[in-house]
Amino acid sequence: MKKLLILGAGTAGTMVANRLSNLLDLDEWRITIVDQHANHYYQPGFLFIPFGIYSKNDVIKPTRDFMPSGVELIMSPIDLIEPEHNRVKLSNGRSLQYDFLVIATGAQTHPDQTPGLKEHEWGKSIYEFYTVEGSMALARHLRTWQGGRMVVNVVENPIKCPVAPLEFLMLADWYFHEQGLRDQVEIIFATPLPGAFTKPIASRHLGDILDRKNIKIVPEFMIERVEPDARKIVSYDEQEVEYDLLVSIPLNMGSEVIARSGLGDELNYIPVDKHTLVSPKYANIFVLGDAASIPTSKAGAVAHFAVECFTDNFLRYIDGLEMLPTFDGHANCFIESGFGKGLLIDFNYDTEPLPGRYPLPGIGPFSLLQETEMNHWGKLMFRWMYWNLLLKGQELPLPARMTMAGKWNS
Ligand SMILES: Cc1cc2nc3c(=O)[nH]c(=O)nc-3n(C[C@H](O)[C@H](O)[C@H](O)COP(=O)(O)OP(=O)(O)OC[C@H]3O[C@@H](n4cnc5c(N)ncnc54)[C@H](O)[C@@H]3O)c2cc1C
Repeated sequence: MKKLLILGAGTAGTMVANRLSNLLDLDEWRITIVDQHANHYYQPGFLFIPFGIYSKNDVIKPTRDFMPSGVELIMSPIDLIEPEHNRVKLSNGRSLQYDFLVIATGAQTHPDQTPGLKEHEWGKSIYEFYTVEGSMALARHLRTWQGGRMVVNVVENPIKCPVAPLEFLMLADWYFHEQGLRDQVEIIFATPLPGAFTKPIASRHLGDILDRKNIKIVPEFMIERVEPDARKIVSYDEQEVEYDLLVSIPLNMGSEVIARSGLGDELNYIPVDKHTLVSPKYANIFVLGDAASIPTSKAGAVAHFAVECFTDNFLRYIDGLEMLPTFDGHANCFIESGFGKGLLIDFNYDTEPLPGRYPLPGIGPFSLLQETEMNHWGKLMFRWMYWNLLLKGQELPLPARMTMAGKWNS
């Protein structure tokens, strides 16, 4: 039996297990997947919990429910990857040999890396929404908050879903309106970027929307520390921003097992060929999802397109053919903008988000870089698609590679 080992049963790992269990002959292949958690989290749903739109039950399901028959699921923390020996050591004492290894251990938040952030004011005047516990604590706080100055701060990029902080800001604007509190709340976005987003055209569109909603951007703010008693964040160049409520997007880093195994960069992300997702150092190691150091967004949609390209390529590879450079960094993401509206962006390594229609040129039904009700419904529909289609590795009628059809060059 040839052994395929998948590390991480999150978005990317689960999709790989499902697709390859269908494509490989399980009389010849043993597929094993390892994760430390018995639960699978729909992370895009964390955004909606602080505003009472989703509850915990909407975003958590048992990991086992998404595992195809014929795939062995092992619940254990992963202790060490030993690529020189084609071996992985688990914390439960087991060692697993592999012929091919897929690393899909994702990215996690590290609030402990910013002085003053996760200290005595954590959970009192300082919150986050990148974990289910954090978003639930923030929901409890917002239910009784009387208003003041709310500062949303991104510690450093890259982060998972780079538009999530913008969505949080716009949903907060809507939520405080609904609560009759908007006049008592000042909303500020302190970001290390020069504007609202990483890419110039989208940054302009999104910056204009934030401006219309009276959300102020403090650009190029590289946080050095939080002073929790003085309720202010301080940057390396000694700019200060005061807050009553701080919502932090803490430093995101790849899994610690990557650092322990000597496989990652300074943020524990693993270098790979950006078109094939193969490790340049080990020809039998592939990296999918947020764990990879590639210049596109860390997003479930990206993981989905990458997994489609990778699985087709993997079949060629095991037949002795070269992998084709098929993954183009394709990313798309609905951006919830409040008041029942949303935007959509679609881009790749070479093309930044542009206005237009998606997926059908001229028809849509979704509009790129434009606020519409249809985009809001697309965002809400994404959760159903995630649980029922994406995780199960089902084909979607969307090309894995980005297309210019329907986009306007402006
Ligand atoms: C607030 C928020 C909003 C988001 N919104 C969107 C959105 O609108 N659209 C979108 O496409 N994406 C969105 N994302 C991003 C998306 O959720 C992630 O990009 C996606 O889940 C990445 O998949 P992954 O498989 O790489 O990592 P994950 O799904 O995080 O899975 C990694 C798995 O590895 C396991 N693991 C890690 N280390 C170990 C270890 N040492 N031992 C055992 N197991 C380990 C973890 O337990 C986890 O199950 C959002 C994320 C957040 C936080």
